[in-house]
Amino acid sequence: MDPLGSYKSIISARATDKRILKRCQDGGIVSAVFIYGLENNILDGVIVADKEEGFRPVPKVATTPEEVLEAAGTKYTVSPNLSVLKSAIREYACEKVGVVGTPCQILSLRKALKYPVGFRHMVDKVKLLVGIFCMENFPYMGMRIIVEELCGVRIEDVVKMDIGKGKFWVYTRWGEVKSVKLKKTHPYEQSSCHVCTDYTAELADISTGSVGSPDGWSTVIIRNERGEEIINKMIEEGYLERRPIDEGKFGLGLLKKLALVKKEKNMKEIEHRKELGLPVPPDVCH
Ligand code: SF4
Repeated sequence: MDPLGSYKSIISARATDKRILKRCQDGGIVSAVFIYGLENNILDGVIVADKEEGFRPVPKVATTPEEVLEAAGTKYTVSPNLSVLKSAIREYACEKVGVVGTPCQILSLRKALKYPVGFRHMVDKVKLLVGIFCMENFPYMGMRIIVEELCGVRIEDVVKMDIGKGKFWVYTRWGEVKSVKLKKTHPYEQSSCHVCTDYTAELADISTGSVGSPDGWSTVIIRNERGEEIINKMIEEGYLERRPIDEGKFGLGLLKKLALVKKEKNMKEIEHRKELGLPVPPDVCH
């Protein structure tokens, strides 16, 4: 079985809009897709993770490209994006909603759409699921300890965080760049992430992340016709530029390797927890 799940194609891509590239992570795919959707009436509201003071993530319903841009950039802590879905539909009256989420959030949303108990009137309003690659995540205080104690940066001074090349990176408003090796950040991870086997959001319409593509570009996994239609239109209309994914060991090879490592490592943890009689996820992607 392919560790990336099912998909139609995989490309490297980046946004062409300079405003997006300035604020975003890697190729800015999530922001570009949502802005394209809003500008072309494919979506009328998108759920994104914005941030409050102290880099504390807060889910938000964005209905304009400006609001999408304000929320751009990855937050390495949990943002309960699905908690505002009802609000998007009931308060903002959105009929065509896009949602970005981690693989676990995309799995939850697919389940909710499939078995919509208390959710029936929302099913036909969720139009696009964009998943982001995720190896592990941190509770807010864990992320703060990494930034303040391991990297020695005040959280108020942080403008961007990133994970890459085996390190957690912090960028400050003074132009400083600090990093810490990921092996030092492991103790601060959420324990639920250790029984999660989905790295690439296998149930999304489009999945994206940096792994597999050169700096400044994103890998884009196009999983179904809905995802293919929007990405193809964006390329045709100049919202995205694309290049073939590198098939080698630093491209697709690395992406598949990491997806497999996560499955194998966390399946072992699931088995271990079962032996101890501890709760484990009822169904996992493996
Ligand atoms: Fe969710 Fe899994 Fe990522 Fe943890 S590792 S945030 S459980 S997708």
